[in-house]
Amino acid sequence: MKIDLHLHTNASDGVLSPERLVARAAELGLSFIAITDHDSVEGIALALAAAKSHPDLQVIPGVEISTDVPRGEVHMLGYFINYQDPTLKDTLARLRLSRVERARRMVEKLNRLGVGITWQRVQELAQDSSVGRPHLALAMLEKGYITSHQEAFTKYIGRDGPAYVEREKMTPREAAELIARAGGLPVLAHPADIPSLEFLLAELVGAGLVGLEVFYDGYAPPKVRELKHLAERHRLIPCGGSDYHGLGADFEREIGSLGVPLSSVQALYARAQRPLALS
Ligand SMILES: [Zn+2]
Ligand SMILES: [Zn+2]
Repeated sequence: MKIDLHLHTNASDGVLSPERLVARAAELGLSFIAITDHDSVEGIALALAAAKSHPDLQVIPGVEISTDVPRGEVHMLGYFINYQDPTLKDTLARLRLSRVERARRMVEKLNRLGVGITWQRVQELAQDSSVGRPHLALAMLEKGYITSHQEAFTKYIGRDGPAYVEREKMTPREAAELIARAGGLPVLAHPADIPSLEFLLAELVGAGLVGLEVFYDGYAPPKVRELKHLAERHRLIPCGGSDYHGLGADFEREIGSLGVPLSSVQALYARAQRPLALS
């Protein structure tokens, strides 16, 4: 049985529409998928409607929320969320808006510093993905204001740079609580590179974390085994998926190719108190 619990649509930075993603998963013979767009649940209703024409495929409504830790970003997945929950929808919309506002303000600061990039060009470079500092760096690079991506950060838009602007932050714990309040199951995404993972897990389990991504693109068998043990120790459900974005690139893993076991889906359904119909 093929399962994929981490998929993106064009409701965030994926390429396929929710309908096309569902059709593709059905074509590949998947039995369970979760739609997990970045900071958005806007694709869920369309995916669920599309799934009605594929009785062998079940779609789990999900989300992937970007959160901040002292040395970087941590992503929190949420499964079986109530995607119509007003607090969830409002909070995600505010987070998305704060990213755009922040990038726009950084362009203004750069302009005042004599760096002549335009907001329009930055948006073009970001295309459908959520606009951020990498796109500002690209705009500066193509205009020759800097000679490397790194220079953009050290000279202008790094934390101590003159064009830096803070954005609204959310901690992993706050994201887990937000998901739980919307009836969902919080699951920590691609944890291999998270600094002080054990420490973070201990905190998140207390905030209602139910799972850990164990089967993920680039995780070799020893890493998978290590993460499985970690999940067992914290009584977390081992989850996983391809993190498919529909880029059509050689390096991208196919939907359903990560070997997520049925037992993980069964555990998630049991935890969410949903009936699991196996066809
Ligand atoms: Zn992620
Ligand atoms: Zn993802």
